[in-house]
Amino acid sequence: MKFNPADNIQDLQYFGEFGGVNPSISDSSTYTFLSAKTMFDTFEGNADGCYLYSRHTSPSNLYLGEALAAMEGTETANVSASGMGAITPVLLQLCQAGDHIVSSRTIYGGTYAFLKNFTPRLNIETTFVDITKLDVVEAAITKNTKVLYCETVSNPLLEVADIKALSELAKKHGIALVVDNTFSPLSVAPAKLGADVVVHSLTKFINGSSDTVGGVVCGTQEFIDQLRNVNDGASMLLGSTMDSLRASSVLKNLRTLHIRIQQHSKNAMYLAEKFEAEGLKTVYPGLKSHPSHELFTSMMNPDYGYGGMLTIDAGSLEKANELMELMQHKNLGYLAVSLGFYKTLFSAPGSSTSSEIPEEEQKEMGLSDGLIRFSIGLDNNIERTYEMMKACMLEVGMLTKEATLV
Ligand SMILES: *Cc1c(COP(=O)(O)O)cnc(C)c1O
Repeated sequence: MKFNPADNIQDLQYFGEFGGVNPSISDSSTYTFLSAKTMFDTFEGNADGCYLYSRHTSPSNLYLGEALAAMEGTETANVSASGMGAITPVLLQLCQAGDHIVSSRTIYGGTYAFLKNFTPRLNIETTFVDITKLDVVEAAITKNTKVLYCETVSNPLLEVADIKALSELAKKHGIALVVDNTFSPLSVAPAKLGADVVVHSLTKFINGSSDTVGGVVCGTQEFIDQLRNVNDGASMLLGSTMDSLRASSVLKNLRTLHIRIQQHSKNAMYLAEKFEAEGLKTVYPGLKSHPSHELFTSMMNPDYGYGGMLTIDAGSLEKANELMELMQHKNLGYLAVSLGFYKTLFSAPGSSTSSEIPEEEQKEMGLSDGLIRFSIGLDNNIERTYEMMKACMLEVGMLTKEATLV
């Protein structure tokens, strides 16, 4: 049977302590042992199923991790307090001083800043490459390279990584392929295409209500055990642990992810086609004009579409700002960073989420001043939304009446 992430989540069954339909929340930081010997064994990592201390694991966090592992098709998963709290321990677990990382140059601003400014302090160097050029990626790999890092759909340019080809490259050179799948949950399952580790910011589509930050690392039991090791595990020792109350709330939101993603994708596809037809420079993996449209189509699960993220170019930062302020004023969404909310969110990445990237480099990678990133919401009537957005674009002079009449 074909791998279907939402079916895998559906097939999990939990009962609360008193037969509740939701698992009970473990509201404890520490756990008792009936014998001192079991406590010792747990520290040594030899007592499966015993809880020790909630920075290590808690039942609530394990439930959420199990559901996310089912979604990504990995053996297991470890949840964390934020997406960065998932990404940074993975990289620090896989790399030591003297090691090297090859990373896509179009990645989340925080990850970029970590690799560019922080890990060099630990003598871990990163080469940033155009991830869509496999020969360039391979040429950047050195004998010290330990990790190949990318996002399935990149932030904010929506470039698509060829996960299968990258995983073959990684295997050939004996390095780990780490993929951030935050922009494309359910649509793409990177581990099924050969990624060794899949990370997510749960803050975005997966939780979907913009009320918390959270993250997850999905991978093999062996790797997750290493991350949690009490002696040298980066997740355990750096301590970005998710709280149990929050894990239980994210798990409840995860249950509607498949329905939400379908609606985000449907709405984004509708708007992308309309914007493009109006002559706006529109980037959306679902459009035939997207350079990786075929590639995305070959990797995706068609049940969930091309996702909720699209960009348009307003021409200049001033125009972009004018349009975003007007759209917020008309209650079409919020001028805010982040994504995956029920309402549309928009921001100009060049001056916000990607401002960590120097202006020169922004230009080189095609990140223009007037770029607006949209996370399209769950709007019930997207035709109505489109008409209202078009009216805003006419008002700020991005479209002219004549042009839209042709
Ligand atoms: C938001 C985001 C992150 C960071 O996640 P936080 O939960 O904010 O720490 C990492 N990767 C991508 C692609 C993101 O969008």
